[in-house]
Amino acid sequence: MIEIIPGIYQIDLPAPVPGSQLIDVNAYLIRGEGEWMLVDTGWNTRYTFSILQNRLSQIGARLEDITLVVITHFHPDHYGLVGKLKQVSSAKVAMHQIEVNLIKSRYLSMDQLLSETAATLKLHGVPEDELPLLQNASLEVRKYVSPFTPEVVLNGGETISHGEFAFQVVWTPGHSPGHICLYEPRCKLLLSGDHMLPTIFPNVGLHPQSGPDPLGDYRRSLRSVEELDVDLVLPAHEYPFTLMKRRVGELLAHLDQRKESILDVVRQGAHTVYQVSSEIPWIVNGSIMSFSELSPLDKRLAVMSALAHLEPLSAQGIVEKTKEDGTLVYRALESA
Ligand SMILES: [Zn+2]
Ligand SMILES: [Zn+2]
Repeated sequence: MIEIIPGIYQIDLPAPVPGSQLIDVNAYLIRGEGEWMLVDTGWNTRYTFSILQNRLSQIGARLEDITLVVITHFHPDHYGLVGKLKQVSSAKVAMHQIEVNLIKSRYLSMDQLLSETAATLKLHGVPEDELPLLQNASLEVRKYVSPFTPEVVLNGGETISHGEFAFQVVWTPGHSPGHICLYEPRCKLLLSGDHMLPTIFPNVGLHPQSGPDPLGDYRRSLRSVEELDVDLVLPAHEYPFTLMKRRVGELLAHLDQRKESILDVVRQGAHTVYQVSSEIPWIVNGSIMSFSELSPLDKRLAVMSALAHLEPLSAQGIVEKTKEDGTLVYRALESA
């Protein structure tokens, strides 16, 4: 546990399976007047729960003293433990409206989402024999989520006052459709969730719950935080970092580079999204990997990420999209 500044503590909540592709999460505990606010919860495991309890006792607090839990976005690593926390504390849980509305289809009755996911993957060329694996790839982590439907619905633009802090809620769609960051202007701090991490490039994919142009959303969200006066970014993974504007520049440049690699592939001829994904390198936990080396979940994220690039290129008339035998294929229209 690190005390970032007086009253704000970073706690490292471990991944459920050490060494797996699931990663540790940084949650943040913020001191108020006799009450605590928690930003993100980590995964739903007994070990995570005991670490959280332990860290609270180190600073003289108890789980019951948490009065507000703010979730940056509804991915299992950020949201997973929330249901368990609700059993032992009367904390209110706050999350962006878009994601509150998606909880049911994502975590409670998943049949429709699973069939929509399969239809999307099929339409984009995932072969029949790989389809069930990719379709069901996220069911494995479902057991690390204890769902709860938040009672405080955010839209962005609110100020959450807690003790001496006043956090502005900044809606930053892209990595997920209702992702939020928390900005504390007096301390010049930005709690960035997964929107910005110091070395990892956050996944941005087009899928049934992403909205139509997540990459466009992500670029706009990066530009909107770039305007904030921030000295220190507190991300939900890895470590705190300074020089936020430089990181925004790197992230935008990375997206441009990915777009160019994808365009290079479709310039060579018609490709499905699946075929494009198989021809470009992917970065997983800092290592460059080929598509065939990826886990089923990462393959699915890869296909959705390539799709997030190709759809706007098609809308802009740079790439043409046609349906052949029930599958969409993309080819470059420009001559460059
Ligand atoms: Zn995430
Ligand atoms: Zn995350």
